Amino acid sequence: MPDQLIYATGAGNQLRCVAAVTTNLVAEACRRHRTFPTSSVALGRTLTGGLLLGSGLKDLEKITVHFHCDGPIGNIIAQADPRGNVRGYVSNPEADTTAMNAHGKFDVRAVVGGGTLYVTRDAGFEIGLFKEPYRGSVPIVSGEIGEDLAYYLAKSEQINSAVGIGVLMTVDPSSDGGDHQPEFSLDRLRVSAVGGFMVQMLPGAEESLIAQIEHNIKRAPHTTEMIRAGLTPLQILETVVGKTGLTVLEEREPRFLCQCSRERALLIVSALGRDEVEDMLEKDKGAELTCHFCNESYRLTAADLNEILAEKD
Ligand code: ZN
Repeated sequence: MPDQLIYATGAGNQLRCVAAVTTNLVAEACRRHRTFPTSSVALGRTLTGGLLLGSGLKDLEKITVHFHCDGPIGNIIAQADPRGNVRGYVSNPEADTTAMNAHGKFDVRAVVGGGTLYVTRDAGFEIGLFKEPYRGSVPIVSGEIGEDLAYYLAKSEQINSAVGIGVLMTVDPSSDGGDHQPEFSLDRLRVSAVGGFMVQMLPGAEESLIAQIEHNIKRAPHTTEMIRAGLTPLQILETVVGKTGLTVLEEREPRFLCQCSRERALLIVSALGRDEVEDMLEKDKGAELTCHFCNESYRLTAADLNEILAEKD
C-alpha cells in the first residue's frame, strides 16, 4: 500500500485534521540510516510528526522538528514541506533498549530522556527569499514524541491539538538473521506499519468538541493498533473525529526526499579554502561527503578537486 496523507476539516470547519500512513518512507529512512529498533521507532514517529505539522504550511515553507535529547539518541531531526516531502536522521542510530516498556513497546522515552524540542518554520530560503524564520521551543516533557508535539503546539503556538503517532516493528520471517545470530534477533525486526493523526481546534471551536474528541480518543484503539489493523488515514480520522462532518480537502503521497546532490557536494567543497582543498587532494586523492539527512555519500575525485582549485585561480 502506498503511503498516504490526507488533510481535512471536521465539525463544520471547527477542526483541522491530518492523518498519514508513512510505512514506506519510514522504512526507507531506517534502511538508509541503519537505525536499531528503538531508534527506528523514534525516527519514524518524528518523521511522521514532521509531516503532520508540515501539512499546514504555505508553498515555499519548510518545518524542522528537532528533538535535542539528553538521552543516548542525541538529536532527532525531521524536516518536512507541505508537499509531503520529508527527510531526517538521529545522531546515534544505534541507541536502543533491549527491554520493552510496560505497554510492550520499544522504550522511546528511555533513549530520548529529557531535553528541548525546537520547531523552526522558514520560508523560501532555498530560492533566496529570506524571511525571518519562526522558531519555538519547549522542554521535552514526555519523550514519546507525539505527546511532545501536542505539548509544543499548545504551549508555543496556542493550538489545542490531539496528536497520535505509532510505529509498529515486526520480526521479518524472510530473514534468517545470518549464521552468527540467534534465531530471534533485534536485527530481524522490520518497520511494518507507521502512521499518525493530528486534530486541531480552530479558533471559535465549541468547548464541547474538545471533550467529544478526547472521549473518542480514549475509546479508540491505540494508534499502533489502528496502523496494525491497516486503517487508511481517512479511517483513522473517522475513528478519532467521527464519521460525520469530515471534509477531505487534499490527499497526497508523502515520501522520503532529500535535497542533497553531487552538485551541492561540489559547491560545499568549492566554498572551502584553497589550503583545505589542497590538503584533501594530497592526503586522500579526493574527498567523500556524506549527507546527514539521508546518509548518501558523494565521492569527489582528484580531477574534481583539481577543477575546483583551477576555478579558485
Ligand atoms: Zn541527503
